[in-house]
Amino acid sequence: MTEDTHLLIFTDLDGTLLDWYSYSESAAWPALNALRRLNIPLVIATSKTKAEVEPLLPLLGISEVFITENGSGIFLPKGFVIPEEMHSYLLDDYQVIQIGPSYSEILAKVSQAERISGVQVQGFSTMSPEEIVSLTGMDIEYAKRSKKRDFSEPFVFDSSQEDLKRFIKVINKLGLSCLEGGRFHHIVGDVDKGKAARITSKIYKDIFPGVNWKTIALGDSPNDIPLFRVVDIPIVLRRPDNSYVKLPESLRGRVIKAPDVGPKGWNAVILDILRKEEGLNG
Ligand SMILES: [Mg+2]
Repeated sequence: MTEDTHLLIFTDLDGTLLDWYSYSESAAWPALNALRRLNIPLVIATSKTKAEVEPLLPLLGISEVFITENGSGIFLPKGFVIPEEMHSYLLDDYQVIQIGPSYSEILAKVSQAERISGVQVQGFSTMSPEEIVSLTGMDIEYAKRSKKRDFSEPFVFDSSQEDLKRFIKVINKLGLSCLEGGRFHHIVGDVDKGKAARITSKIYKDIFPGVNWKTIALGDSPNDIPLFRVVDIPIVLRRPDNSYVKLPESLRGRVIKAPDVGPKGWNAVILDILRKEEGLNG
């Protein structure tokens, strides 16, 4: 790799850096440590909320930028230089670039779509933390955090595919999108992880104008496909049933398939890239 080329890595969490069942990142530690040693920025791009991501940051050794709720918001530490034309606001210890509508706007439109379509969905706003635990297996404290939302509504659905289609059609007419994550459908604004990653890459380019950023993305689900489209090296993780997400034709020749499931595959592919790009030994 030439001297002015640096890696910038975007990663999904559930089923990618975190194990699908245990939510543990432990199998990825050798690669996480190497990234830290080499000072390579790792940007989380997840459907999770700020409240859910925050406790993970010290565990993962990440202190910079993260993207929440499927690309609805970008959180940057205070003092991180943001190009003037990008509007941001301060929230707690962060500068936030909000891309999608607020949670209250989303919820109002979800109710409207339920009325118009005659189809009810079971959204996080209507579920207790205990119900979320039973659907996800996550810790009760995390389930409580997952209800503190800023920009999007995940839901489950137990009716027919036709009903789901009718509901999504109305959601789209109201200017919102429905994204398919690993466990839930997510109602969001006109956002995706790819748009947010593109903005984030631009911020890094602006701060370090002499650097050629080589971008990498890791994910396992349909909502990661927009992320794969905007990076130089897309990596798809194997799922617990050993399958991979179905990729569009345009990406098939370009995507690296991780040889293993979740964080184990994450570790193997990242170490391999670091050996090639950074001359990492071992
Ligand atoms: Mg995932």
